[in-house]
Amino acid sequence: MNCNSKCWYCYETHIKKSRLSAETQGHIVKFVRELLDKKPEIKDFQLNWFGGEPLLYFNHAVLPTMKRIYAITREKRVELSAFFTSNGLLIDENVIDLCKRYGVTGFQITLYGRRERHNRVRFIFQSRGSYDKIKRQHKTFGEKPD
Ligand code: SF4
Repeated sequence: MNCNSKCWYCYETHIKKSRLSAETQGHIVKFVRELLDKKPEIKDFQLNWFGGEPLLYFNHAVLPTMKRIYAITREKRVELSAFFTSNGLLIDENVIDLCKRYGVTGFQITLYGRRERHNRVRFIFQSRGSYDKIKRQHKTFGEKPD
């Protein structure tokens, strides 16, 4: 529920340090395992991460869960395709490398028009929009061949 952006329309509570607990991570992994155990006909599994900002606690919450789910899908020969809906601000080389390694196939990162309009809607602080940073991230990490 937490996010590092402050879009004016956001309905998330922005509760500080709210993230998937170890217990919830365990429940998610258990759910996936049981589902794939019960339904061996499933050959493709899509996992969608959204928040708040799902990359905010990437190393502590998302990555360990993703690794465990990736291992289950490998074991069961199921094609995993994971996807993030993100504001894009925390994407870096490390996140991209780990995402590639554990079955992430895409990110949805929204822009609200051109710089001025976007920065009025989606800002880090009211005086600091996120347009330039998102564009920079895209230039650095977007649509690169493997
Ligand atoms: S990026 Fe999404 S979660 Fe974050 S403040 Fe904006 S609408 Fe809310």
